[in-house]
This record gives sequence, C-alpha cells and structure tokens, in this order.
Amino acid sequence: MSDHEDRVAAVTFDHDDDSVVVIIGSGAGGGVLANELCQKGIDVVLLEAGARVEMTEFENDEVAMNDLWTWDEPREARGSRANMTQFPEQPAWMLKTVGGTSVHWAGTSVRFKDTEMKARTVYGDIEGTTLLDWPFGLDELEPYYDRAEAKLGVAGTGGRPWLPEGNNYKVMALGAKRVGYKEFHTGNHAINAEPYDERNACDQIGFCFQGCRSGAKWSTLYTDIPRAEATGRCEVRPNSMALRVEHDDSGKANGVLYADTNGNQHLQKARLVSVAGNAIETPRLLLNSTSSSFQDGLGNNSGQVGKNYLTHLDQGIYAIFDKPVNFHRGRVVSGTIRDESYHQPERGFAGGFYFLCVSLGLPGYAGWLDHSGWGRGYASDIEGYAYTAGCTLLAEDMPTESNRIYLHPTKKDRYGFPIPVCHQDYHPNDLAARNYALKKGAEVYEAAGARKVMEWRIFPAGHNMGTCRMAENARDGVTNRWGQSHEVPNLFVSDGSTFSSGGAGNPTLTIVALAIRQAEYIAEQMRQNNL
Ligand SMILES: Cc1cc2nc3c(=O)[nH]c(=O)nc-3n(C[C@H](O)[C@H](O)[C@H](O)COP(=O)(O)OP(=O)(O)OC[C@H]3O[C@@H](n4cnc5c(N)ncnc54)[C@H](O)[C@@H]3O)c2cc1C
Ligand code: SF4
Repeated sequence: MSDHEDRVAAVTFDHDDDSVVVIIGSGAGGGVLANELCQKGIDVVLLEAGARVEMTEFENDEVAMNDLWTWDEPREARGSRANMTQFPEQPAWMLKTVGGTSVHWAGTSVRFKDTEMKARTVYGDIEGTTLLDWPFGLDELEPYYDRAEAKLGVAGTGGRPWLPEGNNYKVMALGAKRVGYKEFHTGNHAINAEPYDERNACDQIGFCFQGCRSGAKWSTLYTDIPRAEATGRCEVRPNSMALRVEHDDSGKANGVLYADTNGNQHLQKARLVSVAGNAIETPRLLLNSTSSSFQDGLGNNSGQVGKNYLTHLDQGIYAIFDKPVNFHRGRVVSGTIRDESYHQPERGFAGGFYFLCVSLGLPGYAGWLDHSGWGRGYASDIEGYAYTAGCTLLAEDMPTESNRIYLHPTKKDRYGFPIPVCHQDYHPNDLAARNYALKKGAEVYEAAGARKVMEWRIFPAGHNMGTCRMAENARDGVTNRWGQSHEVPNLFVSDGSTFSSGGAGNPTLTIVALAIRQAEYIAEQMRQNNL
C-alpha cells in the first residue's frame, strides 16, 4: 500500500489536533465545503449528528425512510404561520444522516435573480421588514453558479440535456399554455438525464425523497463526501452531535464539543470551525455557545443570530381530473413555470413565485390532503389519486426581526442544552403573495380541465434560510460576504443561514455555489496565515 492509500483507508485525526478544520453538518453546505477544502490540501473533521446510510440501504418506501432519517431532535414552534401552527414540534423538515437533506431533496436547482439579491434596494422600505441587499451582486456569484451546476450536473445547463416530460408536468404545461404563460419547462434539476460524473441516468421511478437508488440525483453522500475521503484528508464522524463551539482567550474558535453515539462527550480541537447544520440548528448551536465574552452566544454580540428566519411560502395545490394522470410516474418534481418569478409590484406584493410540479406516493398523498372534512369527501379525494395532478407554489417571504430562532427558556434536550424555538408570523406581503399565487395556480389547473382544485395541507418548511445572514455592516447580520463571523474571525457559516434575502427559488444551488466560493477564500486566508 502506498502512503496515500494507507492514509485514505485510515485517516483519523486526534482530538487534540488543532490543525484541522472542523465542519458541523455534512449536507449540501458542509459536505461540499469539506470536499473543496480537502481538494486544496486542507485536513477536515466532518461532524454529523446522523448515521451513515449508504445508497444500497435506501428503500423505495416513504414511511420506512421517513422514520429512518428525519430530523427528530426536539424543537418547538410559535407564531401564526401555518407550518408553525400545524407542526408545533417539527415546523421544519430536514434530515439527520450523512449527506443531510441533500439525500432527500428533489433536486430543483435555481439561480437567484439580481433583483432578489438587491431586495432592499429594489423592493424598497417595506414596513415591518428587515430587508437587506446581499453584500455582493449576482455578477460575483455567477462563476460559482457555473461550477455548482457542473458539480451537481444540473439538467438543461452547461450543455447537459433536459429531463423528459412526465405526466404531472404535461398537465401543468397544458394549463400554463392555455393561460398564456411562456416560461415553462421540465426544470433545471440536479438529476442526470444521461450518465454524468460517475452517476447513472434517472430511471423515473419517483422515490426521490426516499434517497435516489441510482445516484441520478446529486447528494453529497455519494459525491463530495467520498471524494473528500479519497484525498486522505477527511474524517467523517457520523452520530456526532455538536453541542458547543469553544473559543480561546483571544476570541478565536478553537474546538467543538460533541456527543458521540453513546452520549459520551469529546472536545475536538480546531484551527477553524464551520457550522453547516441547516438554518435552525446553526443559530441554535451558536446561541448555546455562551461564554463570558459572548454572553448571548458565540458571534452574537450584535444580537442578530437567529433573526430574519426565512422559509419561502410553500403552498401545495392539487387538482382532480376526469381522466387518469398517474402523477407518481416519474420524478417527484418534474417541471416548473417561471413567468411569475419576477418582481412585478403591480400584482400587489414584492418578489415573485415559481410553480413546481410535485407528486406524492399514496401514503404522502393521503397525509397531505385536507383532512378537515373527514368522511366521504376525504375518501373520494383519496379515490381520485390516479386522477390527480399537483404542484407547489414557492414564493419569497419577507425577513422580520421577530421571525427567528431562539432558545427555549426551560426545555432542554437529552444533552442538557436548550432546545430551539422557531417563531414565524405572516407579513402582509407574504399573505398577498400567497393568495395571488393560489389564484393563479387554480387558473392553470382549471384551464387544463380540472374538475376540482384544492390546497394541500401545508408542508413543514424545507427551505430554511437567513438566520446568520451576510451583511456588509455587522449591525445588520452575523456574517460578512464570505459567511465569516463578524466577531469571531475563524468561525464560518456554510449553509442557507447566510442568505441575506430568500428569493423565490429553491436554495440549494446557491448554498453549493457559496460553499465553493467560501472554500477558495478560506484556503487563501489559511495560506496567508490570516486564519
Ligand atoms: C422535502 C424537501 C425537498 C427539497 N427539495 C429541494 C429542491 O428541490 N431544491 C432545493 O434547492 N432544495 C430543496 N430542499 C432543501 C434542501 O434540502 C436544503 O436546502 C439543503 O439540503 C440545505 O443544505 P444544508 O447543508 O444547509 O443542510 P442539510 O442538508 O439539512 O444538512 C445539515 C446537516 O447537519 C447536521 N446537523 C445539524 N445540526 C448538527 C449538530 N449540532 N451536530 C452535527 N450535525 C448536525 C444534520 O444532521 C444534517 O445532516 C428540499 C428540502 C426538503 C425537506
Ligand atoms: S426518479 Fe430519478 S432522481 Fe428520482 S429517485 Fe428515481 S432515479 Fe432518482
């Protein structure tokens, strides 16, 4: 065995090794950052709260996979937003597993628009919001979007072929055409239409949320993470729940306290710490990392950690037709309409929204139907499964100071740390956008010939953003333009928490683009001994 092979097979880092970068969370942000740093010769310890479930263990079974890997640490919900009132214990939806929610996502990959990144300037001073421009424009992000799309193999970009039309998409497209929309297609997804980058082509079986057994859909689990490990510079520690980030007397992060699978606690020393636990656990971890210098949490002397929580307004609708649709045949998300995604204030709200076709398996379908009228109506909707088409309407929501993550004053988790409370109310702009989107959604399906159009019950929030946002000025946010804490120079945030605004499009492509960009910055700063 060569030195390199030996290291790859066995790389483990000592708890006292303070030369390593410690990354918390192995999802879209953390997994990509780990690989990008390792490829640049930097040693990484990747702490992941969940277990390692490999692709060969995925089952095409909604209930079994949901039970296996859905985030189950305690949380509490407050506020009037429907995901808060309907899911008081888990208002957000994410995974606890190596690969994070990138194992489970639908793969829709959308770039921010320039207007969305200049939200404060373009939308104006909307009362009750804390709207902010990103500290840089789309032009700075575009080269990283190109690289992110190539990494993910996004269909319909970079010369890669488009994915085929599925039944659910065909119905929506018919309605879109009839109401006069122009920008609709099978969508840019991180799903292979043909084999690409050692991943298979999509076989359209439709269990994207249960983990893609062919690897057609990108996930860090079987791309970036094994590639990072193959450098001999990455140690992945599954079942390792980070509890606190520690710092030295000079205020620099110097280690992470975590609990292993048996609940034993360890301190992993670090040269630099990146937090990528998704936008609820990331601020929660910082808020739990109190000390005499940071009495309200690490990097939180500004009081900004956890504020400006964004999730998109994600409202599903479904339509029942007289003839079979069989929307479950094909990818879970099979197409999009983009005509309404632009900022057109004459509609009565700021920001835009996307239509995304979404199909569900029968257990999910029965669960997300409106149950309020149990009985014959509900039963006949279930009978309509094969005749159903559906989509979700994804709209930008407004940041406010009170929509936030904070620590529960009394309730603690099994490690003795306060659990997070998620608070979200609707801003009037949110309601205006949501109501308009619902009206347009109904028009599309009615134009396609639906005999009945209804709202799904709301989903828990899958797109979590904004809680450690990037801001030019430390007063307005937690991190600078690189996702680097304004207060702790070697503390980085590498997930959707850093978004300065939410836009209307799905967030993961941007999380990946930012992680690639951040890795370049970290490597250069480390090379210059600034970090
Ligand atoms: C049903 C659904 C469908 C989706 N579809 C799309 C889509 O089509 N397009 C899109 O752009 N986005 C989609 N998303 C959102 C997408 O999955 C997320 O944006 C993305 O995965 C976020 O990446 P992340 O790295 O921030 O967090 P995650 O991918 O959630 O990873 C965070 C990881 O951190 C770990 N972790 C958290 N706290 C700790 C701790 N204290 N210690 C150790 N580990 C910790 C978690 O276990 C997890 O593995 C979807 C989400 C859901 C729920
Ligand atoms: S439909 Fe395609 S992307 Fe979805 S799980 Fe099947 S092969 Fe993977």
